[in-house]
Amino acid sequence: MFLELRACVPVSIVILSAVLAMAQHSSVASADQTWNDLAAGNHRFVVGKITQRDFLGQRKSLTKTQHPRVAVLSCSDSRVPPELVFDAGLGEMFVVRSAGEDDDPESIGSLEYAVEHLGSVMIVVMGHQGCGAVMAACSGEKPDSINLEAVVAPIIASCARIDPKRPETVDLAVRDHVHRVAQEVLTKSELLKRAFDEGKLTIVEAYYSLETGEVSRLR
Ligand SMILES: [Zn+2]
Repeated sequence: MFLELRACVPVSIVILSAVLAMAQHSSVASADQTWNDLAAGNHRFVVGKITQRDFLGQRKSLTKTQHPRVAVLSCSDSRVPPELVFDAGLGEMFVVRSAGEDDDPESIGSLEYAVEHLGSVMIVVMGHQGCGAVMAACSGEKPDSINLEAVVAPIIASCARIDPKRPETVDLAVRDHVHRVAQEVLTKSELLKRAFDEGKLTIVEAYYSLETGEVSRLR
């Protein structure tokens, strides 16, 4: 029966299906390779064996163009610079940062630019241990200005996960906030959602440990 049905399917459709399956497979493999490269860079950072780079040469070779494979949405915290923790060179990483890695329109637009115009195939949303923005959001205290209020407001929904009597549980809010932002990146952007649905974009949720320097992939 199966053979009979298959015999009725035009050869062109069979070939097209095979090509699409191969493209999907290579896209998945490519995303895995991209993450493996990031993880390898982070490992070099963790063990203190970062790459010696010819920044002068890199700078000159990148004056006309850039093709960062990875975009990172992360916190502005001075202890968590994405290029350093992933041991990346110039032109390798398109980084969008704000306190608490908020996904406001400017951040989403920046990510859209990276994916649509620079060819980034992965967005890493990265939170971190001891995030001051998350702790401020979950403290219940009123921020000192409307601008600081704008920083903490998007995080407050994640504070329900923590136990106020146990400060170490703030990490639950950090991870929950990363997850929410990663989901919102797609719900707030038709362009990124389309790229994601077409298998051209991978969203990674990640957590950085201040103590170890390690970046863990959460999803
Ligand atoms: Zn932070």
